[in-house]
Amino acid sequence: MVRARALTAAPTTNRDSVLNCRQVSELVSIAEDRRLGWLERWRLRAHLRVCEGCRQFQKQVAFLRGAIRRHPALRDDSEER
Ligand SMILES: [Zn+2]
Repeated sequence: MVRARALTAAPTTNRDSVLNCRQVSELVSIAEDRRLGWLERWRLRAHLRVCEGCRQFQKQVAFLRGAIRRHPALRDDSEER
């Protein structure tokens, strides 16, 4: 008889290839400060494609960063000089 092995195939839970939402939110924050490696970017994009919550988070971060750039007064860099 034929066994339906495919049905028991577990979803990939490889931690190296799948980021969880916490890791993604960290990467999103980091990405605003420095350039990510291609692997980080690739993983980030892969997660954002399927995760609405993280997409929203990324938008908010990008928006805030943009706002700060446009309004230097919001920046907390009074220590310069
Ligand atoms: Zn997520």
